[in-house]
Amino acid sequence: MNIPESDLPRVVIIGAGFAGIAIAKGLKNKNVQVVLLDKNNYHTFQPLLYQVSTASLEPDSIAFPIRKIIKGFKDFYFRLADVKSINSGKKELETSIGKLSYDYLVIATGSQTNFFGNKNVAKFSMAMKDLTQSLDLRSLVLENFEEAVLSKNKQRREELMNFVVVGAGPTGVELAGALAEMKNNILPKDYPDLDFSEMEINLVEGAGKVLEAMSEVSSAKAQKFLEELGVNIYFKTFVSDYDGVTVSTNTDVKFKTATLIWAAGVMGAAVNGLAEGCVIERANRVKVDVYNRVVGEKDIFAIGDVACMQTDDLPRGHPMMAQPAIQQGKLLAKNLIASMEGKELIAFKYHDKGSMATIGRNKAVVDLKRMKFQGIFAWFIWMFVHLMSLVGFRNRTVVFFNWVYNYVRSDKGTRLIVRSFKRKNKKELEAEKFV
Ligand SMILES: Cc1cc2nc3c(=O)[nH]c(=O)nc-3n(C[C@H](O)[C@H](O)[C@H](O)COP(=O)(O)OP(=O)(O)OC[C@H]3O[C@@H](n4cnc5c(N)ncnc54)[C@H](O)[C@@H]3O)c2cc1C
Repeated sequence: MNIPESDLPRVVIIGAGFAGIAIAKGLKNKNVQVVLLDKNNYHTFQPLLYQVSTASLEPDSIAFPIRKIIKGFKDFYFRLADVKSINSGKKELETSIGKLSYDYLVIATGSQTNFFGNKNVAKFSMAMKDLTQSLDLRSLVLENFEEAVLSKNKQRREELMNFVVVGAGPTGVELAGALAEMKNNILPKDYPDLDFSEMEINLVEGAGKVLEAMSEVSSAKAQKFLEELGVNIYFKTFVSDYDGVTVSTNTDVKFKTATLIWAAGVMGAAVNGLAEGCVIERANRVKVDVYNRVVGEKDIFAIGDVACMQTDDLPRGHPMMAQPAIQQGKLLAKNLIASMEGKELIAFKYHDKGSMATIGRNKAVVDLKRMKFQGIFAWFIWMFVHLMSLVGFRNRTVVFFNWVYNYVRSDKGTRLIVRSFKRKNKKELEAEKFV
């Protein structure tokens, strides 16, 4: 890997997401050698992926080169590598570019889509967990309309113009709202020869309300906003099967659609090789103590979505959101240095700053500790918080101008099929164990 030998302890961080970047910044210019590994050479701002999928933002504006983040950091090395497994006995990692030894290991690999074992859904639905998947979804949405323009068959046209989004958490709600805005304001201008009364956006949710983790008032208001935009919501409905055309559910409801978007669940992205008992099987998250140390290990830590810190208050760990990841990353940087200096460690305590979701133009809901508000003010707050959380001045500027353009012109600027979406072939699906 071409990492120089050093007298300093080597900290290896796997993953440059919110948690990995937070700890990397905390270890800047400290007396350690840091090696940061990621399978991508960029950090992704996942909360805005849905805007890439719905042609509001270009992918480059929500991603940031990792090498630029760590530029100028002393004794810091980034390597583009997919980590395959951990050998804790040898204190060594196996990666796509070779082996690497560590003194301290930090697992910050985030999460992956959870299809709850449904192979057909995994095979035919669209997920939205990274930039590649978001671009695939953008291409598919636009390709559907290009095909619909050519189709003389009403049933096929409806399949192409109907969208089913599964999961009414923030991602599903934001995506359904954005698709509805495309239907109402944009697509009819692009495709004047199509009848948009044939287009449906269906949001399917297993629980009895949208945004279940938010307050009653925000959940109710978000539902109202979605209904105003024309989204059909199906509660207490679970998708049981999908063959690429027909979506079956646990009720009598069936949908015909060429696009099923799966926003119904995530699970941890634990790395192979940890001792039995360290990984919670169904959640695929790594069990950690209050210092984010992996249970039963001395020098291995896990932070962010992949880590599960079970406490009396939070028996299923912290919510898989950006704030716990950032806060754990920041604290672990301090704790690692403290432990090397023989000082006492500080136990992690999550400071919940609240949550928010946007449904569309002038429509958002915000839950803060002492205040809850919805509507246009919440929408401005949502935009401000997301803008300020983006990495890099360039990205903030590009996103800001895109949003102003979208607002003033009621338009979205990136309706491009740059790379045609191709479903995976049998061989690729077999490799991913889907068939
Ligand atoms: C569509 C979407 C919308 C979201 N919206 C919100 C929101 O509005 N608010 C909010 O708080 N949270 C939101 N989240 C959740 C939030 O993005 C995550 O909680 C957060 O990204 C977790 O940070 P992390 O560092 O643990 O993982 P990530 O940010 O996922 O980073 C993990 C990193 O590890 C790398 N990696 C993974 N496996 C390997 C490997 N084997 N080898 C090398 N590198 C690897 C990945 O490439 C990635 O860079 C959203 C998530 C999604 C998918």
